[in-house]
Amino acid sequence: MAATVPVREAPAGAGDLARRLAEAAGEGLRVRPVGGGTKLDWGMPGEPVDLELSTAALAEVREHDAGDFVAVVEAGASLEALRERFAASGERLALDPPTLGAATIGGVVATGDSGPLRHRYGAPRDLVVGVTVALSDGTLSRAGGKVIKNVAGYDLGKLLAGSFGTLGVIVEVALRLHPVPDATATAIGRGADPARVAVAAGALAHQRLELESLDVRWSDGEGAVLARAAGALPRPLAERAAAALRELGDVLAAARALGGEVVGRAALGLCWVRLPAAEAATVERMRAELAPAPSVVLDAPAAVREAVDPWGEVDPAALELMRRVKARFDPAGALNPGRFVGAL
Ligand SMILES: Cc1cc2nc3c(=O)[nH]c(=O)nc-3n(C[C@H](O)[C@H](O)[C@H](O)COP(=O)(O)OP(=O)(O)OC[C@H]3O[C@@H](n4cnc5c(N)ncnc54)[C@H](O)[C@@H]3O)c2cc1C
Repeated sequence: MAATVPVREAPAGAGDLARRLAEAAGEGLRVRPVGGGTKLDWGMPGEPVDLELSTAALAEVREHDAGDFVAVVEAGASLEALRERFAASGERLALDPPTLGAATIGGVVATGDSGPLRHRYGAPRDLVVGVTVALSDGTLSRAGGKVIKNVAGYDLGKLLAGSFGTLGVIVEVALRLHPVPDATATAIGRGADPARVAVAAGALAHQRLELESLDVRWSDGEGAVLARAAGALPRPLAERAAAALRELGDVLAAARALGGEVVGRAALGLCWVRLPAAEAATVERMRAELAPAPSVVLDAPAAVREAVDPWGEVDPAALELMRRVKARFDPAGALNPGRFVGAL
């Protein structure tokens, strides 16, 4: 059977996009939102899609008063362009996933992606204070606003962060910005013993230091702790750090045993592991080593994707709830069908 080659369209405005989405859903078409297109294969292979709705034409900064530390931007704006724009007024969007310029804010929010600054400023869900989303029934739904303190009701921004384009197409976000620090200093400590690297990261995580980032790295058989400074670590984060660090040594040791590399947010218990031999058996072995800690497979060859559920095990009760949320937001099941946890 010939593979379906999706048609890609870039509607000129949010209203056009919502109308096109409803039309497509009404015709039973399967739709994929596209931002920079850098990570379209993350998640389950899912069903082939018929239509790609690109946010390329939605790249404006709608509102940004310098010094207000909040901005409303369209979802197709690239992270690079936003960085340049905000830097001009001494502000920054504290989101630093490893981008090479193409990634859009809509894509970063949809995948919940982050970088070292997550240690201090949180994930996309913590920096989005308002969102406008196009639903497959054609409505444009808005939640939150420009003010940091959100209005009452379910926090739609948090629900859409990490939803991988399965609930709606994000067309606009209101973002919390932070001042660019005058100066930062990064200290790097190296070591060949995973357990000692974890202990070192732990010791740093418990210092009352204004750390912007606290990362661990493992590559070529050597580990490192990278701490970028700037003030005090709030108490709750320190307790969470303790729990996270207990597992850190296991992750480094498991990666070493499999000849892998690691980059991680030490105090948050978040690690990215790159395995050299990308076979399903190696992935499953890594998962077994990390259990019960959950793990998600991001970039992997098609053969591994077919053999391994990238999302891993999910609590059935939670899955049922997510199934109902999906059915409420996308009754036609048009958006990125089969890509999400439980093949939602
Ligand atoms: C290990 C790693 C490697 C990376 N490599 C690169 C790189 O080489 N280049 C680079 O620029 N960035 C890179 N990144 C950053 C990453 O691509 C982005 O952070 C983000 O995940 C994808 O952004 P995008 O705009 O390209 O989204 P896309 O790849 O277009 O889409 C990603 C997912 O989000 C959905 N989606 C996209 N836009 C929307 C929207 N508006 N509403 C709803 N759903 C949407 C899509 O359907 C898809 O499921 C990397 C990140 C990591 C962790």
